[in-house]
Order: sequence, then C-alpha cells, then structure tokens
Amino acid sequence: MKPDIATIAEMDRRSVLHPFTQAKEFSEGRAGDPTIVDTADGIYIQDAHGNRLLDGFAGLYCVNIGYGRTEVAEAISRQAHRLAFYHSYAAHTTEELAILSDRLVKMAPGRMSKVFYGMSGSDANETQAKLVWYYNNLRGKPKKKKIISRERGYHGCSVVSGSMTGMSFYHDHMDLPLARIIHTGAPHQYWHGHEGESELDFSRRRAAELDALIEREGADTVGAFIGEPVLGTGGITPPPEGYWEAIQAVLRKHDVLLIADEVITGFGRTGSMFGCDHYGIEPDLITVAKGLTSAYVPLSAAIVGEKVFEVLKDGADRVGSFSHGYTYSGHPLGAAAANAVLDIVEREDLPGNARVVGAYFQDRLKRAFAQLPIVGEVRGVGLMGAVEFVADRERKLRFDPSLKVGARISQAARDRGLIARAMPQGDILGFSPPLVITEAEVDEMVSIAETAVRVVM
Ligand code: PLP
Repeated sequence: MKPDIATIAEMDRRSVLHPFTQAKEFSEGRAGDPTIVDTADGIYIQDAHGNRLLDGFAGLYCVNIGYGRTEVAEAISRQAHRLAFYHSYAAHTTEELAILSDRLVKMAPGRMSKVFYGMSGSDANETQAKLVWYYNNLRGKPKKKKIISRERGYHGCSVVSGSMTGMSFYHDHMDLPLARIIHTGAPHQYWHGHEGESELDFSRRRAAELDALIEREGADTVGAFIGEPVLGTGGITPPPEGYWEAIQAVLRKHDVLLIADEVITGFGRTGSMFGCDHYGIEPDLITVAKGLTSAYVPLSAAIVGEKVFEVLKDGADRVGSFSHGYTYSGHPLGAAAANAVLDIVEREDLPGNARVVGAYFQDRLKRAFAQLPIVGEVRGVGLMGAVEFVADRERKLRFDPSLKVGARISQAARDRGLIARAMPQGDILGFSPPLVITEAEVDEMVSIAETAVRVVM
C-alpha cells in the first residue's frame, strides 16, 4: 500500500537533507510540510493535494521544453530497454552518445572540438578547471592556474565550482573559496555604475579593472576567466553594452582562456541558441547542463575548444591517457534524452519562441512594474527576467533584509498559483519560464506577479 500524503511528508522531514533549506526549522516541522510535487504538464506543476502552479522558473531554469513531453519519455524508455548503462571509459560509446557529441560540436558557438560529459553544471565546471590546469601544465606553464570569476556569478556548489560562485553565502562555513579562484566586479551597472557613467564606459571600466587584476596577480599565474553570458542566480542581469567585447580583448592580451558558463543560457533562453551567439562571445570552453536535456535526465557537458584540445592531443604521448571521468560520463539515458530534447528545440524553434514571446514578456514586465515606487530596475533578455525592489528609488537604497520583501512577494505569488523565484541576492523576483510559454501564459504569469506585489506593497 502506498503511504498517504501526511506519511510521505513525515518520512521526508525525518530523512531528507534538502538543499538550500533551513535544516532545523524544517526537520522540527516549524517550516510546514514539504511540497510534494506530483505531476506536471506543459508549464504547470501539480502538488499531491491537487494544487496547480504555473512554473515561472522552469524548475530551476531547466525544463525548457515544458513538462510531460512523451516523445522524450519514450526515447529514454527505448534506450533503457535497449541498454540502460555502459560507461564511456577507454573508448566505449553508444549510438546516442556519438550522435549527440557530433551535434553539439557542430551547433556550439566558437571553434569547438570535443565534448566531455558529466551529470551537473557543478561537475562540468569542476572539469573545466581541471582542463585549464592540465592545459597549462602541458604547455609548460605550471604557474598559470588562477581562475577569475565575477562577483554574483553562479557556477555551482562543489569545491571548485562553489569557489567560482561569487556570492559569499555559498562560501560561508564551507571553507570556500579556494585560493586559486579570485573574483572581479559584477557587470551590473544599476548597483555598481558611477554617477553619470554611460553603459559603455561602465563596461570599459570593468574591463580595465580586470586588466589591472591580471597585471597585479601576474598574467603568468592567471589561466582562465569564467562567466555566464547573462548573470543568472546572481540576479538575472544581462551584460551592459560592450561588456563582452571589452572583457575578451583583455583576456586575449594576457593569454587567458575564456570559459562561457552556458548552463542557463544554452539552448535558447536568450532568444539565440547560445548566449555566446547573442553577445558575440568566442569561448575556449563552454559549460552546458540544464537545457541540454531539459532536466528529463541529469546530463552536463564541458565542450572543449580546438585551442585547448590541440594541446591535450599533443601532450598525450608525454602524459598518457586523459585521467578524468565519472562513472556516468556520457550515460546512455542522458544522451538519448538530450537528442530527443534537441530535436524538439530545433523543430519547434524554441530560441525563436524565446525571442518573440520573450520580447512580449520583457515589454509586459516593464509595463507592469517599472513605474512602481518600490521597483528599482526591471531587466532581462529573451525568456529570463527580473524585477528588483528597493526601499528608496531615488537614492537607490535597499530594503532592510529582515523585511524579506522579495521572499514575501514570491510567497504571495505562490499562494496565487505562480512560482516566481525570490533570488538569493537582494529583493529580486526572478522569472525563467519554459521556452514553450505562450503570450497568453505570459499574461497570466505577469498578472499574478502584479497582484502579489500589490498585496505586499
Ligand atoms: N552554472 C550556472 C550558470 C548555473 O546556473 C548553475 C545552476 O544553477 C550551475 C552552473 C550549477 O549547476 P548544477 O546545479 O547542475 O550543479
């Protein structure tokens, strides 16, 4: 007999250590019951009590094709029946893995050469760091190891990727960041621009600061720079005008590799297939996860550019095999899911939908919120957007964090049937819906959020 809802909640409270959850309040029952997510279809999820919620965050910016796509479930099932698992060590492969890799190398921006697989964005960024270190060891530059990331960047929460993440609450009490990972300023003009500074001048200043940081550390000690084309978890913030052009010029000058973390922006979210395409970024290494399988099965990849692979290849006779890999690297179910998902992304032109419906969404968001006295900034690109709330618009003063304005607005939205995320940094309501969303569904999403803001204001 299946356990009832109360029993499931109790078992969970007793036994699960949930990510990003206050462990004491939750396990003692003071934070209420867990939400038991039961079924989902399109852009809606449903809990075990039958409550339907519009998922304005696509899970965690990942279910891009929407929920309940039988085509993908069937592809996974077919593969599971044929061959559920075999590893990809020592040149073993599967049909789906070879097809997927050929496809990714061809569709990825820049000059890519090979794909290395993992299960999460975090482990893929861990792989990127090892690739940077390996590459520079093979090039006879053993000191060139530091990796620069940005404040408010999010790159995961394992040891290296957690160090790359530029928000202190992901480091506190966890002994991070590692000394090899250093941070430079966030590309967010609203908070960091100087009085009267143009967007372009702000971008140039950020690039000049990066240049100075590399000079200070010594260019012979800096191996790579990692950045999301659009800052995600740090506040859903598109880059200011000219930012990537100016940053790339500095990296080229100092022979520093560029890792584009496309975990959120990959496969259509900005309105282009990749964020790099959108912003003219030419990366040496690309990290993808989330949208690669639309989260139907965990799968991530570190896509390796020609420049890095050539060095790996040339060094192979000296150092032997590439000694890095996970049991589940290139898992057949992940590869089958990714191929089925990418078929949908291409056939339904989801980057195109993110561009067209995304423009409607950005406009709708601005019209709903930009003039409100507690709104400092409305921003976004494609189908990712954010509303940032401030106590004083004129003087740009934040609310007292104890008021939990962002969290209260997010909860008010949830009580009315919408998941819009209270972003962890500041009072920010974030949106990142499935890329299949329609204009009518955007209207529903934004109007619930408007009501939520009015209730809390
Ligand atoms: N990189 C970016 C840009 C992300 O947004 C995330 C997760 O949100 C990660 C890396 C880490 O991915 P994962 O949670 O799958 O480890």
